[in-house]
Amino acid sequence: MKNARLHKHPSGPEADPAQHAPPQAGGSRTTGKADSGPGNRLLAALPRRERGLLAPDLEEVRLVRGQVLFEPGRVPSHVHFPHAGTMISLVLPLHEGGETETVTVGIEGAAGIGVDPTETTIESFLRGMVQMPGAAARVPAKRLAEAAGASPVLRRLLSRHAEAAMSMALQSVACNAAHRQPARLARWLLVALDRAAPEDGGRLPLTQEFLAMMLGVRRATVGDALLAFQARGLVRLHRGGVTVLDRERLGRTACECYDAVRRRYAALLPGTTRA
Ligand SMILES: [Zn+2]
Repeated sequence: MKNARLHKHPSGPEADPAQHAPPQAGGSRTTGKADSGPGNRLLAALPRRERGLLAPDLEEVRLVRGQVLFEPGRVPSHVHFPHAGTMISLVLPLHEGGETETVTVGIEGAAGIGVDPTETTIESFLRGMVQMPGAAARVPAKRLAEAAGASPVLRRLLSRHAEAAMSMALQSVACNAAHRQPARLARWLLVALDRAAPEDGGRLPLTQEFLAMMLGVRRATVGDALLAFQARGLVRLHRGGVTVLDRERLGRTACECYDAVRRRYAALLPGTTRA
């Protein structure tokens, strides 16, 4: 049960995320338009017509850390498109306790869509949980499915997104089995940096509990590895987070999985991730 207590879910599985979001939070970039502010790159990749299809139903919300957006066995009510600084983890809870991340979703993608974007009845296999709080656009899942049914362009983009997400999950299976822990930690820090695209440089509000959950290791193991990275000048640790100081050298420390998944996203969804 080592991880089960680490993530308090402020919203239950049935809760509406918007109930936990301050309305028009801060009054900044909360125009309700998906293409306002830094936005989400998957939405930004849509042609004008497709954005127009979704625009009436898109709203901007604030997501809080630990918020559960959907649960296994439930049909997601909304699809969320994170903005800069926001990161959602798709985790697989285990009955015997604990949960492990399978896919990380940030500014390049969306959480809450299945393989067939026109499908509205398939229950989620995963839990969608907010790991880095911040803004996101969201649209009712049924509306997105209708729009995908009406637009081959949207359907194709969402199918490619699903393919990319599946590639990430499959790469993680191989990574977890074959690669050593410090290299996997370096990989995940780079993934988080890409997904969250923090506006204040390399600062990631990732707790050591979260990193331990992602990697499926004990918190002390992650703590030791982070201290070793800090001693090498790769990162700086601070309360409630870690700042990446030297992305290039961290990349040389990471296993091949980081580059493999990055190239896959770049090929399938040009413009949404680092080339
Ligand atoms: Zn790996």
